Amino acid sequence: MKSNFEIAVFEGDGIGPEIMAPTVRLLEGLAQAGGYGLRFVPCPAGAAHYARTGDSLPAASLEAAGAADAILLSAMGLPDVRYPDGTEISPQIDLRKRFNLFAGVRPVRITPGTPTPLRLEGGQSVDFVLIRESTEGLFHTQGTGHVTQDYAEETLRITRATSEKLMRFAARLATTRKAAGHAGHVTCVDKANVFRAFAFFREIFDAEMAQHPDLGADHAYVDATALWMVDRPWIFDVMVTENMFGDILSDLGAGLMGGLGLAPSADIGEQHAVFQPCHGSAPDIAGQGVANPFAMILSAAMMLDWLADTHDAPALRADGARLRAAVDAVVAEGRNVTRDLGGTCGTEAAADAVAAAL
Ligand code: ATP
Ligand code: MG
Repeated sequence: MKSNFEIAVFEGDGIGPEIMAPTVRLLEGLAQAGGYGLRFVPCPAGAAHYARTGDSLPAASLEAAGAADAILLSAMGLPDVRYPDGTEISPQIDLRKRFNLFAGVRPVRITPGTPTPLRLEGGQSVDFVLIRESTEGLFHTQGTGHVTQDYAEETLRITRATSEKLMRFAARLATTRKAAGHAGHVTCVDKANVFRAFAFFREIFDAEMAQHPDLGADHAYVDATALWMVDRPWIFDVMVTENMFGDILSDLGAGLMGGLGLAPSADIGEQHAVFQPCHGSAPDIAGQGVANPFAMILSAAMMLDWLADTHDAPALRADGARLRAAVDAVVAEGRNVTRDLGGTCGTEAAADAVAAAL
């Protein structure tokens, strides 16, 4: 059983460093109390680094990320710093490609105090995970689609190799969640009634799920899923879908949570994984100490879950759950939260409240 872990830390741009610092402190506290080691390796990268050095993702940072057990990333990119061809600086996308992070994981949780636009009755709780394939699907021809004077064409590509890895990942996540008291149910979200490529996707899903008689499995069309996410989101546990559908449904998921301040995410591959909040670098509030650190802290909790799973380290799993519960408690209590959640706290005070709740 592994007990020392190396974490590559990309503090990034804008509010990035402000939300990363207290998150690392919380993790250090947990590790110390839990009797395991976390070593944090700073990895300079991003738009501000590019402006200073002409390099947005230094080789040393990439190498450190490759060697680390996990990658923790806050936010990168700034509106007024771009490459000479005008494209945005987003080293997180380079990391996704470099390490073949095929599974985008987006939890959608609505706990008391979450500024959701939904009106939930007592007993209805929303807690599901959307898994978005992140390397192919309708993004396959991204930027290289065929455009003539008279028509434009892009390709939807679903491969067996990637889909098998994706479905295995979904089943594994559902198994872990079932052990933690969730339904243990995976829904394949597709459009298999219209597209043969999605019938193929569904077949691969069925073959994987047939190996897990302990898990529930069903299919849903993406259009119906969009409706159900709004009108009965509590029915979902784990959803797995194609790249473009996942892109759209994850924004719907963020909307259900009432915005970005509480939305964590992970990009996971076979060897590597990046954990980062869904929000960007928020340059409009950077430097003021008012950014909400909770999405970053919840991303760190996902990192502990994943490390626990991949290295069979139960102490880290327990700490992932504790960290999440501590954020939930502070959000529910509602006094020590940042402006975006209706409070008056700064970043540090909100993170201190999480430490106190721990
Ligand atoms: P991206 O960089 O991914 O394109 P974006 O530019 O669309 O993102 P963000 O940087 O996420 O958007 O910011 C959108 C809005 O949400 C801004 O007004 C920003 O201040 C606010 N915001 C984002 N993250 C936070 C946070 N952690 N705490 C408080 N407000 C936030
Ligand atoms: Mg931005």
